[in-house]
Amino acid sequence: MKTATKQARKEMKLLCDVMLGKLARWLRVLGKETIYFNEAEDDELLKKAVKAKAILITRDKRLAQKAKDFTKVVLLKSNSIQGQLKETLKALKIKPPKTIPQTLCPMCGTKLKKVAKSKVKNEVWPRVYKRQKAFWRCTGCRKLYWRGTHLKEIRRTIQRIKTAWLQ
Ligand SMILES: [Zn+2]
Repeated sequence: MKTATKQARKEMKLLCDVMLGKLARWLRVLGKETIYFNEAEDDELLKKAVKAKAILITRDKRLAQKAKDFTKVVLLKSNSIQGQLKETLKALKIKPPKTIPQTLCPMCGTKLKKVAKSKVKNEVWPRVYKRQKAFWRCTGCRKLYWRGTHLKEIRRTIQRIKTAWLQ
């Protein structure tokens, strides 16, 4: 199977198989442009990956076999999200981001933009508003993020991956 070259890695686009929705969300959190459909036939998925010049990530051996002549493929073995993330990051040499601006919205994969605190006052609980200094909004689905929720989740997952790596 082909592996990503140094140059391709810069603007690497990924496409997760229909079974890998959770993985797709996490790859977006890690700042990777990731295409995902809830439903798609193998051939359709393959066509979309080729068209977008995306690396296909799948657990389906048959699809991987078929796809490898047309696009780069990462074939995953693991059932768990932790294992899948680990396999993907290793295969594509992805390093987790340290700050929020590098990450993409886990829900829709669009960039996050910092928003002034005063603008979100009516959108968050007073307790959150009081505690948090910085807020980010998804430029796609408009979902609001702040350090407490988003970064804590990211750190926890990265920690889990690191732990799994050492085992
Ligand atoms: Zn979004």
